[in-house]
Amino acid sequence: MQSDYILSEDQVNVFRHDIKPRKAKPRQSKAPATATEEDTLTWSKDVEEATPADGDVHHTTCTERWKAAQRDDLKRMWAIYLETGIFLAACRHGLIWWICDMVESGELAKYPLAIVNQALEVFKIRLGIGYDIGCSFTQTVAHSTLGPKAKENKLRFVVPAFHGYAHRRLCQLSFHPLLVTGFGLEDLETCERIFASFNGLAPTTRYSSQFHRHQSIDLYAQQHDDDKYSELSAFILNNYKQVQNILDELPSAIAALQSGKTSEETAYHQHIEAERRFLTERQSKEISYDTFACDYLQHLLEYREAKRVYDDAMEFILRNTGKFKSEQLEKRAHLMKQHAFENYERIQDMLHALELLHQDKIKTRWTPDMEEWKNAEVYLATREYQQALNKLEGLVIARLFELHKMGLSGTGYKMRTHINKALKTRCKAIQNALKKYNIAAQALNRQQLDWKAISTYGSLAEFELLHDSRSDVQKEPWADRTNREAASLSFKIERANEERVRLNVEISRLVDSMRSEESHLEACIAKLRADKSPLTTQVVGILAHRRRQNDVHRKRIQQAYRLPCYTGTRDLQESPNSASGSALEAAETVEDDQEFDADDDLLGQQQEGIDRFIGDLRFVTDT
Ligand SMILES: [Zn+2]
Ligand SMILES: [Zn+2]
Repeated sequence: MQSDYILSEDQVNVFRHDIKPRKAKPRQSKAPATATEEDTLTWSKDVEEATPADGDVHHTTCTERWKAAQRDDLKRMWAIYLETGIFLAACRHGLIWWICDMVESGELAKYPLAIVNQALEVFKIRLGIGYDIGCSFTQTVAHSTLGPKAKENKLRFVVPAFHGYAHRRLCQLSFHPLLVTGFGLEDLETCERIFASFNGLAPTTRYSSQFHRHQSIDLYAQQHDDDKYSELSAFILNNYKQVQNILDELPSAIAALQSGKTSEETAYHQHIEAERRFLTERQSKEISYDTFACDYLQHLLEYREAKRVYDDAMEFILRNTGKFKSEQLEKRAHLMKQHAFENYERIQDMLHALELLHQDKIKTRWTPDMEEWKNAEVYLATREYQQALNKLEGLVIARLFELHKMGLSGTGYKMRTHINKALKTRCKAIQNALKKYNIAAQALNRQQLDWKAISTYGSLAEFELLHDSRSDVQKEPWADRTNREAASLSFKIERANEERVRLNVEISRLVDSMRSEESHLEACIAKLRADKSPLTTQVVGILAHRRRQNDVHRKRIQQAYRLPCYTGTRDLQESPNSASGSALEAAETVEDDQEFDADDDLLGQQQEGIDRFIGDLRFVTDT
């Protein structure tokens, strides 16, 4: 038996030697250790260094972030559930294209390459694919044997809308589906949802042989696709309704944001270009802090503090000699002085050693009135600010992923409880990081953030701007908050118009395919009947099943026809009973209620924030 879904090991191994695993970049700073991270690491002892981003020789920060997010995302934990794990690709309607069995742990480049190869064979030109690390993987494909073929067929990768928030702004400008022409209103998070649903299969295949495992996966995928076929028209109708909403509401919202603006301030495509230029330029001359000056100043400050403590202890003893209430108190005071002196001496030795080592740079010991000291102070404050900002940003993004995973249907109760616990820990961590950030920001006279903005994720896109030390950036039209908001709304309208064109194509294709499949099956039945074949009842059953699904499709398509913004052809004749929507309502499935800790107000609030946030992001409603 050969499954249509599963790519064989041979098909995958063609790309085994395409990309050399690159050496891991040495970590600059240790990532914050959180409860989740430690838990996850104990689950995965075999940390695989090779990744599908290996072709990206420029070491973009995105790749590093992806790895970090992957840990927090508990992806490895999911992989444990699936034993060896699978790699899959699906179309935007959730129908599965192909599945690869991951033989080695971790996502090696050969799996996505094999799938991309297959997709290019089948779909050929102008294919758009969403992948968590679409940015780095673009480089991987370009450097692989698929490179010329991908270029010729104009293959385009983007980063799924939700995952986009873990990527740098510069990368988002080129890879976020909202900003890339042609991706419509697609959020490209389909695989994430399929993967979550596949976890239900894992316990039954854990101990089976490869053959039976493949058989189960194949059966599961068939059933999954049949379900998705039933939902096809719901997907189309929902997206069409989204288009309608956007075209109804956004133009007036944009007009309100644009009032009193010059034409230069509303040229949003130019804003994107200007922002890209600015960020590229900044990346090329990344501010290098004088680390030596920072370290030396830190030592000097410690030295001064130790000296102060020792002097205080000394003075206290001199002042109180002969006046101590008890012998014990006197003893303790002397002990404290002794400790302070030892500490002072230790730091002094370190300082001497440092000064000896850098004789060329330190002529005399720095004092607060010296130019070097003042410069180093600025360096130090900036470094502390940047570190606080990085930490805060990292925590907020990690939290976003966890909340997303928790809201995902198919996430088991046990896993949800686990994530819930991790979230509570992280909540406190974020509040602490926020406090530290605000102290650092105040020292530099920079914008402070509040918990509300952080918890509703309104400020995520602004993190990138906060990284910049030049305050004049804020005056650029593209950096203005209102303009940014108006820009993203105007891009939404652009994408909505693309979506409409695409949906028109999909509707007429669906109508056509229903018609031809039904008449094909009818012809088959007629022939089988004539031959008195025992297969007749089987095929009659298949047709009846399809008809039931298609009747629902036809009703939903009629609904789409009635939308004011509908611009496609109307190939489908109005059937007499199409006005009633009873069959339709019965066919809609309701997502199971998410169980949340009701008495945890903070989490509830957070979930609301994320719901709103995701609602803004993706327009495809799950049904
Ligand atoms: Zn990226
Ligand atoms: Zn599809």
